[in-house]
Amino acid sequence: MSPVIPIRSEPSAGCTDVQPLVQRGQREVFCGLTGIIWLHRKIQDAFFLVVGSRTCAHLIQSAAGVMIFAEPRFGTAIIDERDLAGLADVHTELDRVVEQLLARRPDIRLLFLVGSCPSEVIKLDLSRAAERQNQRHHPAVRVLNYSGSGIETTFTQGEDACLAALVPGLPATPAAHTSPDLMVVGTLADVVEDQLRGLLQRMGLTVSFFPPRRSQDMPAVGANTRFLLAQPFLADTARALQARGAQHLPAPFPLGVEGTTAWLQAAATAFGVMPEVFEQATQAARQRAEKSLGAARQRLQGQRIFFFPDSQLEIPLARFVHRELGMELVEVGTPYLHRQHMAPELAWLPAGTRISEGQDVDLQLDRCLADAPDIVVCGLGLANPLEAQGITTKWAIELVFTPIQGYEQAADLAGLFSRPLKRRDKLAA
Ligand code: SF4
Repeated sequence: MSPVIPIRSEPSAGCTDVQPLVQRGQREVFCGLTGIIWLHRKIQDAFFLVVGSRTCAHLIQSAAGVMIFAEPRFGTAIIDERDLAGLADVHTELDRVVEQLLARRPDIRLLFLVGSCPSEVIKLDLSRAAERQNQRHHPAVRVLNYSGSGIETTFTQGEDACLAALVPGLPATPAAHTSPDLMVVGTLADVVEDQLRGLLQRMGLTVSFFPPRRSQDMPAVGANTRFLLAQPFLADTARALQARGAQHLPAPFPLGVEGTTAWLQAAATAFGVMPEVFEQATQAARQRAEKSLGAARQRLQGQRIFFFPDSQLEIPLARFVHRELGMELVEVGTPYLHRQHMAPELAWLPAGTRISEGQDVDLQLDRCLADAPDIVVCGLGLANPLEAQGITTKWAIELVFTPIQGYEQAADLAGLFSRPLKRRDKLAA
């Protein structure tokens, strides 16, 4: 049996003061429209109408197509040549599409008009369109807008923009309600949400999740709200919640055993949960999770890993694979380094880790090939060329689509790194 790794929560300088290698060149990332794939599964009465081109429609369809078993809750209103040439009134066309959609789909309660590169290039004001539609359809349907364009964003920022658009409409906590409330922010698979809720309830805490499963169940927010981020890419959402008076509870992200324990501990500390109650609530699941990592650790210990910047999950993932699976970090790339949200994670990385922010893809590929890591985490566009050079890869987007947070998912998360290496072992045998 593999040794159980003790939970280390002592403060450490780690990479707290790291000066990342900042590069601003050509990037290889998906755009923010990708977030619709997991957001539409989460908010079950919402519809995402992309206002974009055929390219946008292809992106969404190919990313989600195989998973469609019922009528999809996303679509694209195509901006065509007539619109681009100014021959048609795009607002009138869009109103017509929305009317048709809402008449055909009375189950929709929340409609997002999602901006794209083409809609931004022609400066289509979707906030005006949303306002107009709200006048017609609210309260039966609420219409909001956000941008999912690929201009200056990475794909997880689509979720950030979507949730930030929802914050101003969240109900306010009643003035008479003064005791603190806990909110978990960031889209989680339902199974993960249920597990985390169960653990928090065992400590005597009630918790709301944002976004909720149905648009009618939006959580209230106010000065008594304390929120934990479940995802590391929600800078704008956090800022919008803070503007409504909510307080962020700094914590590592709930990835792996250590991350999940420290994340739960941040809530327990903020709400005055006694240490013995915390221990009782978490012990069994924690010990199970520690044990479950053994097999993957055997394969991954000492393996060298390189992260290209993609999802913004890279720093918490690097912390997990290093501290709990014994992997060596060659380079940890992140599209954007949010020092405040990442502070607890940076403190847990080994001092001297090469952290890069942004990308100049050719230079980064050169570094990667020179370093010859055992496994590379990267976007789809880089995976095939790297595999062709004999380097094992893991698609970063899989780490976003797969439920990986919490104790019960720790072994699955470890498996996402060990499986590509095992596959290569088999091919080489
Ligand atoms: S939003 Fe931009 S980057 Fe994304 S699919 Fe449409 S055109 Fe391409």
